[in-house]
Amino acid sequence: MHELSVTEAILKTVLKHAAVNSVHKILSISLQISKLSDLEDNWIQRYFDYLSKDTVAAGALLKIERLPLLVRCEGCAKSFETEPADIGNMVCPSCGEKKVALVPGKQYIIKNMEAV
Ligand SMILES: [Zn+2]
Repeated sequence: MHELSVTEAILKTVLKHAAVNSVHKILSISLQISKLSDLEDNWIQRYFDYLSKDTVAAGALLKIERLPLLVRCEGCAKSFETEPADIGNMVCPSCGEKKVALVPGKQYIIKNMEAV
């Protein structure tokens, strides 16, 4: 997924929420973004600043966390966390099985926002 489209989707959701709640200004937004995404935090913020100009979200600070990457073992069905660098070279920590598959997760989650 492209940086700009993710940031656009986040902004759209935030603005919708702001409109419903009669928000004057959004101060900060707490986000969780997939570890699989190659989005750099500072780029997300830069895109966001660019896209949110002239909206109530202009100048909002993005607080970005990474969502853990989950995989499930096909041998014992246990789930565990992994790092993007380990994909393709994964071994189940409980049974040693090499057939482990990524559990599909969300691209991003908007956790919270601070507004006035
Ligand atoms: Zn296993």
